[in-house]
Amino acid sequence: MIETIKINIKPVSTSKLSQIDFNNIDFGKVYSDHMYIADYYNGSWQDFRIEPYDMLSFTPGSAILHYGQSVFEGLKAYRGESGEILVFRPEMNFRRINKSAVRMCIPEVTEGIFMEGLTELLKLDKNWVPDLPNTSLYIRPYIFALDEYIGIQPSKNYKFIIFTCPVGPYYSKPLKVKIETEFSRAVQGGTGYAKAAGNYAGSLYPAMLAQQKGYDQLIWTDGATHQFIEEAGTMNIMFVIGDKLLTANTGDTVLKGITRDSVLTLAREWGMEVEERQIPVTEIVEALQKGEVQEAFGVGTAATIANIELIGDDQNDYSLPSIKPDSFSSKILKELDDIKTGKKEDEHGWIYKI
Ligand SMILES: *Cc1c(COP(=O)(O)O)cnc(C)c1O
Repeated sequence: MIETIKINIKPVSTSKLSQIDFNNIDFGKVYSDHMYIADYYNGSWQDFRIEPYDMLSFTPGSAILHYGQSVFEGLKAYRGESGEILVFRPEMNFRRINKSAVRMCIPEVTEGIFMEGLTELLKLDKNWVPDLPNTSLYIRPYIFALDEYIGIQPSKNYKFIIFTCPVGPYYSKPLKVKIETEFSRAVQGGTGYAKAAGNYAGSLYPAMLAQQKGYDQLIWTDGATHQFIEEAGTMNIMFVIGDKLLTANTGDTVLKGITRDSVLTLAREWGMEVEERQIPVTEIVEALQKGEVQEAFGVGTAATIANIELIGDDQNDYSLPSIKPDSFSSKILKELDDIKTGKKEDEHGWIYKI
């Protein structure tokens, strides 16, 4: 049973909705009318409320600004056939934000605080869920530390916020990626399995260097030896080689993606051979040289499936075959879209209807 919480709602006086051109939305730049906020002080989460999306104010000494004690999530809501709002696997994000929170010494939120806040926010901003093809409402829950204190210790005060953004496609074309063998995204014993803010700050510089060489993103390898493939940018990575679906096993350094889990589940149900294991860089490079890599793609909530058209190592760039409508990644993308928008029956209990 999810406990009930009391949420105070202060609606906007005028909605911004009429100013939005849903045919032209830049990912993550348009914000819906409201946000959900909870404060943590005196040892508990309290003051649950929904307010107009607006500026926050906190002091320059706030811990988040200095030490990055912060975790976040990303999930999406879709509009179903008869206009209803469908959220994809939100209880997974609820569980994962707490897993991330524990790693960063942030107090966990209860299921009621997460799910009821999300539900009430989406009820209020339901008209912000777009219904054009390839659009959705991106939902961003996050928690951050607020103590005004420059010493390093876990904060005693936090904010949990959920806001939403109507979005179109994340990537407009297939990606060129470079296998990174100098910098690391995550290390054994580190914070790579958590969606901790600092992980992403640390990934910007290596990604920028790769972009200067003409790539879009990086393929991250393990921090100890750089001999095993882990993720692609901020997504999990998958390969189709000899009709087998191959992805890195999750753990300390590979984030447990919900899209990853969904794709693997469907692939297994379709009778495809699936391998979750360590992936040597040499195995992929050899398969690329022999032309055996049929498909490579990133999987994550923002992009769902991000096809890769070129993989570079320190010596060569290898082009991949172009994606066709009957490619695995095209079929899986369509299947996921059909489930998310209610066109296909939800056999897995993945859809949370508002
Ligand atoms: C969020 C994220 C993913 C993808 O997870 P989803 O639950 O599928 O969105 C993969 N890798 C990293 C590093 C991430 O932060």
